[in-house]
Amino acid sequence: MFSRFKAKEENRDNCCTLQPKGKITCPECGEKAKGVLGKTFEALVKDDAKAKFNCFDGFYYCKTVTCKLVYFRGDEILTQKDMSVVVGLKEGATPATVCYCFGWSKEKIKAELVTTGQTTALEDIKAKMQNPGCACEILNPSGGCCLGDVGKAIKELTKDKTDS
Ligand SMILES: [Zn+2]
Repeated sequence: MFSRFKAKEENRDNCCTLQPKGKITCPECGEKAKGVLGKTFEALVKDDAKAKFNCFDGFYYCKTVTCKLVYFRGDEILTQKDMSVVVGLKEGATPATVCYCFGWSKEKIKAELVTTGQTTALEDIKAKMQNPGCACEILNPSGGCCLGDVGKAIKELTKDKTDS
């Protein structure tokens, strides 16, 4: 008897690449932007904004401080108003969150610098990355580890302090 194999067809939309590889240029600011996972997008974009898309894969994240775009995919763009969290890296964001997993913001780091002259942010984050572990993929708009941003924020805030 002739039997046919049921070919399992991957029936994905063409828009969907799991995590966009490489970097592409932000249509707004012209800086390089990095791809994020569909689950990052899904976790951090408001429901009403998500309703406009049938697929959450293939978006890029713009980390430029002065650029209003947060995520984009071709001509589909999302800004802070579409986000369920405050994108701390963007100009004027309050709180200026740098570590989403363990709740470190520029405000918190600054307060520590003012009271003790130093900050435990990096030690605290590194310790908690070991235990209980982090969830950057679904908490951080960049979808990635925050340590670079935290280091930059500390440098910036320490410099501010010595300047004033
Ligand atoms: Zn941009």
